[in-house]
Amino acid sequence: MQTEIALTDNELNTRETVNRAVALLRGGDVVALPTETVYGLAADALNPTAVAKIFEAKERPHFDPLIVHLPNKTMLRDVAEVPAEIAKTVIQLVETFWPGPLTLLLPKKPVIPDLVTAGLPTVAVRQCEHPIFHRILKHFGGPVAAPSANRFGALSPTSAALVFDQLDGRIPLIVDGGACARGLESTIVRILPGTPKPIIEVLRPGPITEDDLKKFGKVVFVKRNEAVESAAPEAPGMLAKHYAPRTPLRLLESPRDFSPDPGKRYALLSYRGEEKDGFLDLHDWAEVAVMSPGSGRVAEAGIRLFHLIGQLDKGGFDEIIAEPVPDRGVGKAILDKLRKASV
Ligand code: AMP
Ligand code: MG
Repeated sequence: MQTEIALTDNELNTRETVNRAVALLRGGDVVALPTETVYGLAADALNPTAVAKIFEAKERPHFDPLIVHLPNKTMLRDVAEVPAEIAKTVIQLVETFWPGPLTLLLPKKPVIPDLVTAGLPTVAVRQCEHPIFHRILKHFGGPVAAPSANRFGALSPTSAALVFDQLDGRIPLIVDGGACARGLESTIVRILPGTPKPIIEVLRPGPITEDDLKKFGKVVFVKRNEAVESAAPEAPGMLAKHYAPRTPLRLLESPRDFSPDPGKRYALLSYRGEEKDGFLDLHDWAEVAVMSPGSGRVAEAGIRLFHLIGQLDKGGFDEIIAEPVPDRGVGKAILDKLRKASV
């Protein structure tokens, strides 16, 4: 199969690209689309044959459920139940964060095929904020299932070129909508009733942070038992090993943890490129990539994380050494990805 990259650089191209993407979705095919988080591989969420093509292209195991993206907020009740005891919080979160990188786990309605949810009784839903994605969904008129457009377990792609690297020959079309604004997958939450406040369980940390969510309930980060997880992962972005580049990557908690093997070439993934953090002068690095130069902002580091790892992965180094980032805000999601990419 020939994989084409379609442009959205001017209105004429965009219109043609949107039409082609919609035609593929209507025809039961897959298409890679830009989102504000990472590129997604989309198919008609209500068509199991189309959804099966996502699993095939990604080589994704069927136990790993897909996120369903809605063209509008009102469609939420078509695909999911909103239980009365959490309805107020669901509505508040949807009104505050949609369109945007917040995914809600809710009981699924029967229209959603079991393949989408890996047989789980819940469905993960969100509304994406990327203008091109939004336009395609609006024309398509229904929900699409769209996990990240990578091979299973590999790096999530934050540009059309990175999708091409992984899925060339496996899908007909990649819609190029530029680099992703957030660069990290959506925050996934489940809402539970609670007194005095509802509980917001974060199953996957992401761009919507604890600070963003805490107005709406008590925020709890769920640490999962990995042994149980690998048998039946509830949110498999949470599998112990995930997001891995081909080059071994190791997250160090401290510069003291580094003991290089002679003759090996190491690249450093630095947080802010500051000598005083203790990593820069530790070694004669073959290459240094800096996530947020200067003052160090976790949100900026999040945007650049997968892009920089992808670049370092092409350098032929023996190992990528990652500095830790602050464990707050988007930093939680970055640490989560780096731990899962670590050998
Ligand atoms: P991806 O976009 O590749 O990160 O994949 C979507 C992720 O959403 C999955 O790996 C799960 O972590 C999560 N997810 C999707 N549906 C469900 C569900 N019904 N229950 C729990 N987690 C889900
Ligand atoms: Mg993924």
